Amino acid sequence: MNSAKSGAIDVFIALGSNLDNPMNQVLRAIDTIASLPATELCCRSSLYFSKPVGYADQPDFINAVIMVNTRLAPKKFLAALLATEQCLGRERSFRNAPRIIDLDILLYGQMVLDDSELTLPHPRMHERAFVLIPLLEIAPEISIPGHGTAARCLENKPGHDVRRIDDTEYTSP
Ligand code: AMP
Repeated sequence: MNSAKSGAIDVFIALGSNLDNPMNQVLRAIDTIASLPATELCCRSSLYFSKPVGYADQPDFINAVIMVNTRLAPKKFLAALLATEQCLGRERSFRNAPRIIDLDILLYGQMVLDDSELTLPHPRMHERAFVLIPLLEIAPEISIPGHGTAARCLENKPGHDVRRIDDTEYTSP
């Protein structure tokens, strides 16, 4: 998966939005990430609708997962994602609140890390259908360190509320 020649690493990122034209927010965030230095966008999943988790009284989310190949170190990459969230107008209120954009590093290669700034793999990715379904669309064989294959994780999550959005349903900004 990782390019030994360039020292670049395959990184999977989850995107989510449920405010201010969420489809547009997700597509803008993908464009911004694709233009980060030393980073190349390799593929992106379809967009998906999902029902909010944790705090139900808010609009449905748009979700996607992308894979990039980057030479940015993990914390540099995280800083770039947080700056992208800021740039798109993300405000932090309460846990599971509606948001203009949420960007999470799911996997940075197969790195395992747990400190105050960054946890890899993302600590809740294996239990979220709205992450696993788009991830499996672009990486059907992917494994999550400590949790086995993403496909097996999804098998343990029956009855999810995640729906792929057909291209004809895309709205322009
Ligand atoms: P939130 O946007 O509410 O999901 O949380 C963002 C914070 O989570 C950031 O300030 C990061 O320091 C921290 N964090 C820890 N692990 C990750 C990860 N894998 N991806 C993104 N943010 C992470």
